Parts: sequence; C-alpha cells; structure tokens
Amino acid sequence: MKAMLCGCGRHLEAANDDGLVRETLAHRRQEHATSVTDEKLVRRVVAENAYRLEHVAPYADGEGPDEEFGPEPY
Ligand SMILES: [Zn+2]
Repeated sequence: MKAMLCGCGRHLEAANDDGLVRETLAHRRQEHATSVTDEKLVRRVVAENAYRLEHVAPYADGEGPDEEFGPEPY
C-alpha cells in the first residue's frame, strides 16, 4: 500500500503509485476544485511524498476476542 497526506489533512491511500495518483486527482477535483489539478504535478507530488503503508493486522496473533463459555441462554 502507498499512502499520502493531502495538504488539507485528508489521508489518501491506494495499492500503488498509479492508484494513489488517481485517488489524489479524484480527491482534488472533489475537495479542491478551485485549485489547478494537473496530473503531471500530482504524479510528481505522489512520487515525492507518498510513503509505504505497512499492512496492519486488526488483531495480533492470539489476541482475538476471548471465547466465553457463559451459561446457556435456556
Ligand atoms: Zn485535500
């Protein structure tokens, strides 16, 4: 995963640089329609500012919710 923080504080992420460029373009058109959205510029910004986003597992091994053996409901 690649990720980048937009100047507005919005966190953008995608599987790779190309995806991140598309995400950034879409975000800029939606949220920053008044500013110039040049794909070459966005591509350069992504290349310079994007960082790798390591996969983070929701639970570490063996750290899932405990199984409970409570009283039967009936
Ligand atoms: Zn933004």
